[in-house]
Amino acid sequence: MPVPDRRTFIGTSLAGLAASFSQNAAAANPPGPPDASPFRSPFVYPFLIGEVEAWSISDANLMLGEGLDLMWPREAHPEMREVMGNHGEPEGALPLYVNVLVLRKDKEVILFDAGFGGPVRPRLGWFADGLKSIGIAPDDVTAGFLSHAHSDHLNGFVADGKPAFPNAAFHVLPDELAFWRANEPDFSKSKRAKGPLPKMIADARKYFDILEPNTETLKDGDQLFGGLVTVHAAPGHTAGHACFRITSGDDELLHLMDLAHHHLLMFADPNWTIAFDHDPEQSVVTRKKFWAEAAAKRTRCFGFHLPWPGIGHILPEANGYRWWPEAWRWQQ
Ligand SMILES: [Zn+2]
Repeated sequence: MPVPDRRTFIGTSLAGLAASFSQNAAAANPPGPPDASPFRSPFVYPFLIGEVEAWSISDANLMLGEGLDLMWPREAHPEMREVMGNHGEPEGALPLYVNVLVLRKDKEVILFDAGFGGPVRPRLGWFADGLKSIGIAPDDVTAGFLSHAHSDHLNGFVADGKPAFPNAAFHVLPDELAFWRANEPDFSKSKRAKGPLPKMIADARKYFDILEPNTETLKDGDQLFGGLVTVHAAPGHTAGHACFRITSGDDELLHLMDLAHHHLLMFADPNWTIAFDHDPEQSVVTRKKFWAEAAAKRTRCFGFHLPWPGIGHILPEANGYRWWPEAWRWQQ
């Protein structure tokens, strides 16, 4: 058998390597129609809660340009800067992740909030693409839970002036509906800029009206889908703000929703609040209650605004707590 000379062997190997590399590159960047997700692929993290399939789907990549100016109390800013610096977090804009939790159990497909909605834009509105990428069509969704009526949570439930998930019940606490539908929703305790309020209120009412035929109101402590979802009233961020506990067998996941907007600040000191809270004092009381319980029980948690995919634990530390993100786990 002829032995290939060294030059031929190297030439053949490099050609093979180049061929396999270009195949891999093609697989990583499949050609697609030019109008499909022109900016990015969806960020979708699959995981399990007991036997229930779950996904964390990112809807946005936002930076809050006001940085610590959004955080209260002002006197604590030096301490906040120290916490940020100690962890290598840059000063300036604060990242705001938007993680939508999706569950599938038998024929139930359940969403916990729905992101910004609207067309896909470079920095937001990615949730619909993410859902499509895991083979779930809008008609497949059977239930949507709303934590509260801010645009990053509510707006994705509506598309083109109609319910985005026509077969889904829309679950919300009555206090949230009542707040936005009041003659004059009370923002007197909030540190949020007042200019955008009239539009915010008008939008929330408009979306609630569109979703009215699908709306089913909840009560604190309600259990749905045979105990799979438990509802927890968690007022402060808004009047009818809700958190949700998912239970499957011995496993559970506590969805913290907007009890935290940053992975360091609201944990290092739960007294620190963000300007978006409608009632900062109440939000602190609620956060302390949830943090104490989750830390004592070592509950697995999920954060809507914590670094994607947003799964982790709350650990007691010094005079406060620490958010401990769960390590990435490959699905088999
Ligand atoms: Zn939010």
